[in-house]
Amino acid sequence: MKDRRRSGENWTQKKRRQLNALFQIQGGKCFWCKCDMLPPGSHENRRGVKPPLNLATYDHMDDRHSPERGKHAGEFRNVAACWKCNFERGRQGHLATPIEQRRTDSKRHPTPPDGWSR
Ligand SMILES: [Zn+2]
Repeated sequence: MKDRRRSGENWTQKKRRQLNALFQIQGGKCFWCKCDMLPPGSHENRRGVKPPLNLATYDHMDDRHSPERGKHAGEFRNVAACWKCNFERGRQGHLATPIEQRRTDSKRHPTPPDGWSR
């Protein structure tokens, strides 16, 4: 448990440092909605306490659909985004998953229809 905790802290520290840098680069504006964000670290993560909607969070942009794909193979472009945008983007991604896909994921072998032979 000690090791796990320590590595988690290192990862968090690294992320926080990158988020701070991104926050400076973007002038404190959300990458998506350009709102003024609260500086990272101004909200202490606690159970049951929701972060402010404009809190700066660490987000990554999926370059899968970018024409530049291939130049940065396997890389994500990291951006600072407000908590609200980060949260909503995540939810939209989930909803965008086709229902058939979700069924396949949750139930590996649904009841085959009549005449199903393979
Ligand atoms: Zn935003």
